[in-house]
Amino acid sequence: MHFISTRNDAPAATLSQAIAAGLAPDGGLYVPQQMPPARALEAGDSLADTAATLLQPFFAGDGLEAELPRICAEAFDFPAPLQRLATRNDHVLELFHGPTAAFKDFGARFLAASLSRLRAGQERPLTIVVATSGDTGAAVAAAFHNQPNLQVVVLYPDGRVSPRQAHQLGCLGGNIRALRVAGSFDDCQAMVKQALNDAGLQAQMPLSSANSISLGRLLPQMSYYAHAALTHRAAHGSPLNVVVPTGNLGNAMAAVMARALGVPLGRIVLATNANRVLPDYFAGGGYQARTSVATLANAMDVGAPSNFERLRWLYAGDDAVLRAQFLSRAVDDDAIRDAIAARHRRHGEVFCPHTATAVRVLEQLRASGEAAAHEHWAVAATAHPAKFETVVEPLIGRQVPVPPALAELLQRPAHAEPCAPEYAALRDVLLA
Ligand SMILES: *Cc1c(COP(=O)(O)O)cnc(C)c1O
Repeated sequence: MHFISTRNDAPAATLSQAIAAGLAPDGGLYVPQQMPPARALEAGDSLADTAATLLQPFFAGDGLEAELPRICAEAFDFPAPLQRLATRNDHVLELFHGPTAAFKDFGARFLAASLSRLRAGQERPLTIVVATSGDTGAAVAAAFHNQPNLQVVVLYPDGRVSPRQAHQLGCLGGNIRALRVAGSFDDCQAMVKQALNDAGLQAQMPLSSANSISLGRLLPQMSYYAHAALTHRAAHGSPLNVVVPTGNLGNAMAAVMARALGVPLGRIVLATNANRVLPDYFAGGGYQARTSVATLANAMDVGAPSNFERLRWLYAGDDAVLRAQFLSRAVDDDAIRDAIAARHRRHGEVFCPHTATAVRVLEQLRASGEAAAHEHWAVAATAHPAKFETVVEPLIGRQVPVPPALAELLQRPAHAEPCAPEYAALRDVLLA
């Protein structure tokens, strides 16, 4: 299979090329030349085996094809269980059992396992430069830690990520360097962009990025939806409907692609925080990117969802068809707080602020009858509540136990290098 750009102005690429490049050279996003046809899929396999079966058509003919089962075994070595909630026919798909307790661990680990194989035998290591406002950088740093032929430089705005997030970035050491930049997230992102566009620098050290538009992160995310929906159908005979907490649309896009491949998913609903570009679009307004506003669900503070271009491509740019397929709802900070407090008070359930947006949207759909009582629905739980303890603990009036993998990271000493918010400073660090 080959991959083309959503902007149709770049040569077709192999999967390996698309994964190594991240963004297509015309600025578009890589998409499959055509989607593989839907298949009859069976439950019963492990998450890693389900992933290998589902992803096989995308790897067909590529240099990585023979390695796919081993890549999946490495990336999917922790579970994504579907758990029942207290409310009838409601479930939660727990995507937070990886090393940094967020769903981004799946994509980051798959990308790392793929890139380490693509770089095998190369003389110089590949340096991944990432700007992060928290979750992405932690997942990428943990996934690439100790991978041969790869090193990571993470930039984060000093003082503007949570103390636990900063700790996760600085505690790995080895091939991972954390830079605390005296500036904003936008400064960090601009510095990374300049590095990636600096041909002189690239001649001395090969660079790449690992942001959420990378196919190496998007494709594997289909796997947990497949595993959950197939297991659910085997037990209940019905498709699983999902509500996905959405920012850049990477996680939800994977659900959409999985459904197109024959995974028994019913409806896919997009829950956002107060950044309501998607709800406004799906309600019939035009697509209008905006500056993001800060919310409690900060990993979803996105004003221009980067994967929207892929979603439009999948529906051949037909807005009417696309709108008919999805429902999207926004949840403001007060409703996020209320959802966290009320679910804990009534049912003893604890959710992170991102997951809480989707829980609240599902409650609204149940109340209005848009989600019928007999239908089974699952909320994608994108992070463990212990990652956002400063929001969650005051609302529920108790401490949230830290999962073991996260506790292990938090116990290590952490160190980050200071960096001025200028490209020249980053360049010096990279070349030092
Ligand atoms: C990144 C993130 C999201 C948003 O996912 P997208 O793929 O950008 O839509 C939601 N919740 C958490 C906890 C995240 O880290």
